[in-house]
Amino acid sequence: MFASNPFAGLLHHASQWLLGFALVLLAMAAGAALERRWPAELLQSRAGKRFNIVYAALYSALAEAVRPLLAMVSVAIVNALGGGWVVLASRGWSALASIVIVLLTIDLLEYAFHRLQHAWPVLWQLHSLHHSATEFNITVTFRHHWFEVLIKGCLLYPLVGVLFKVEPWIVGVTSIIFMFGNYFAHMNLRIDLGRFTAWVNNPQYHRLHHSNRAEHFDHNFTQLLPLWDHLFGTLWLPAKHEWPATGLDDGAQPRSLLGALSWPLRAHAAPVLDQPRAAHRFTAQQADDHGGQDEHA
Ligand SMILES: [Zn+2]
Ligand SMILES: [Zn+2]
Repeated sequence: MFASNPFAGLLHHASQWLLGFALVLLAMAAGAALERRWPAELLQSRAGKRFNIVYAALYSALAEAVRPLLAMVSVAIVNALGGGWVVLASRGWSALASIVIVLLTIDLLEYAFHRLQHAWPVLWQLHSLHHSATEFNITVTFRHHWFEVLIKGCLLYPLVGVLFKVEPWIVGVTSIIFMFGNYFAHMNLRIDLGRFTAWVNNPQYHRLHHSNRAEHFDHNFTQLLPLWDHLFGTLWLPAKHEWPATGLDDGAQPRSLLGALSWPLRAHAAPVLDQPRAAHRFTAQQADDHGGQDEHA
């Protein structure tokens, strides 16, 4: 309907982006209020958060811009492979089972893709932008390289459409669960879930995935359920007071938005030498150098 009026199409996408980004800001503001009350790491910089938020605006604008293209590619892939192999119910209690099935499938695909991101150098060049954050908090949630939107949109998510014939609202519900799970996992929040730490991704569990300490590398890949880390031997259950510093082992991080956008080229990256990484940024109890329960085989 917008083909005859490109301006109307542009306006439509701009308003969609604005609405989406307003919700992102709202979620981040709510998360930041909790982080201020119960921080895991003290004295994080406002500049770092501002940088992540501005980058998130660019990232989400790009995601909105390529949405029609990704939808087209998805439909083409699903049609080519004869999509909807398994028909899932969308009424009554069976719909709940459908939500669980879609959720487990997406989470497993995300887990597999995340492991590839750490194993394949090309994918790591992109994903390392996410890991370059030396201050771990809710604003890191969208600090992913923009090109990953295209890769996941063209390769990962259409698989769900190939596997399942499912009502859009069921996919919508699972997307919302993943979205809140993703915000939660990236929070700078000192929360102890006790034995449930091993049940659902959370700030301490995912912080360990972002750790800059070599012994923590390649653990805790899951997006939502640590079940996958447990099954595939990549689980590291953090000890009670284990809240490691985060970032890349060489301390590299983008120095500008251009540096983030062109991150794989690393032309604008540099080790950050003036960031205080000492224990005084953390609350007193957490400096535990020997904690952790590595179930990695
Ligand atoms: Zn990662
Ligand atoms: Zn992360």
